[in-house]
Amino acid sequence: MIKTSKLLMIPGPTPVVRSIQDQMARETVAFGDPGFVIDYKETVSELNGLWSNNGECYVVAGSGTLAMEMAISNITQQGDSVLVCSHGFFGDRYAEIVQRKRLDTDILKIKWGSAPTPELIDEQLSKKSYKVVAVTHVETATGAAAPIKEICSMMKTKHPDVLVIVDGVAATGGVEAYMDWGIDILFTCSQKCFGVAPGLAILWASERAVQKRKSLPPIPESYVDFEKWTPIMKDPFKYWGTPPINLIWALKESLRIIKEEGLTERYGRHIRQAAMFDAAMESIGFLVAAEVNFRAPTLSVYFYPENSNIVDGEFRTILAEEGVQAAGCLGEYAGKGFRLGHMGNIDKHVLVSTIAAVERACVKCGYVIDFGKAVGVLQQGIINE
Ligand SMILES: *Cc1c(COP(=O)(O)O)cnc(C)c1O
Repeated sequence: MIKTSKLLMIPGPTPVVRSIQDQMARETVAFGDPGFVIDYKETVSELNGLWSNNGECYVVAGSGTLAMEMAISNITQQGDSVLVCSHGFFGDRYAEIVQRKRLDTDILKIKWGSAPTPELIDEQLSKKSYKVVAVTHVETATGAAAPIKEICSMMKTKHPDVLVIVDGVAATGGVEAYMDWGIDILFTCSQKCFGVAPGLAILWASERAVQKRKSLPPIPESYVDFEKWTPIMKDPFKYWGTPPINLIWALKESLRIIKEEGLTERYGRHIRQAAMFDAAMESIGFLVAAEVNFRAPTLSVYFYPENSNIVDGEFRTILAEEGVQAAGCLGEYAGKGFRLGHMGNIDKHVLVSTIAAVERACVKCGYVIDFGKAVGVLQQGIINE
């Protein structure tokens, strides 16, 4: 049989559609090329508009982790207290980044599969004075989403002086969040819900966050300094670090796709896709790791059925041979299940092929199910749309 192509169903990078690939294949121009300068400026301005931001948006070469560092570096100085809410692996990563900056760091640990609530954050903020609180929107290790809108409105009424950082890496562009909810810094990167190849860090800073940076003495970091990038974002003809030209074109195309679909519809589609995937997987005995009230629209952790004798590594190897690249679980979930991304520019073909490959992998691993059971549930979901 002809070799099966592999769908990239991990929580990032996500599938890159042809029109975005085409932008990356364009002939590279100078960073000061008049056409590119216009494209860069338009991209930044559209990102601000679409996410209702009154401050600055920064699009720079780097991964999501760089954006994490950029966020905390620009609004804190030595001695500041920061509360990092962690409901998993990436929350823990954020805590480590903040601690390394020798900031006074407290961690609000939430059990895996759950997420921080406004009540829990309020309780901690009422005990001690903090300058910044950081929350992960979708925790990529568990598939649990924090209620960002509710958290922001609690912050506005009860702790209006505390700056709010949201790690939107596995959410932004797939799960609703707008800067005018009261977010001070929101960030993501190109390879998750935007469906672009890895390499771009994207960060929105509210006017309040921009002013906060201005009020600080020079920060130790150079590459991620807002003060270095703001002039470039306003006039990309200027130079600070060479922009990844082809990736910025790719991001521009991804924004065109997002606008064509409509952000609201895109958020709705992600919610429906997640519900269909969860229902299909549950119909063949898999368990969704995240608590029902916190299930993320963008990715899920599926625990292997208890009676299945599926061996994790073997299952994912066979699943890859069957045409779907999934991810292993991290930390306390390692070995118990696998992570499936369902975010970005994925269509009905991708949805059906993914679940069909999962069915084949189950049977090949000796976990006998009726072929078409999960696919049938998914098809019913798609037709009901
Ligand atoms: C992927 C991810 C990151 C890190 O992004 P990189 O591009 O891998 O550096 C940070 N936070 C969350 C929630 C993520 O999903």
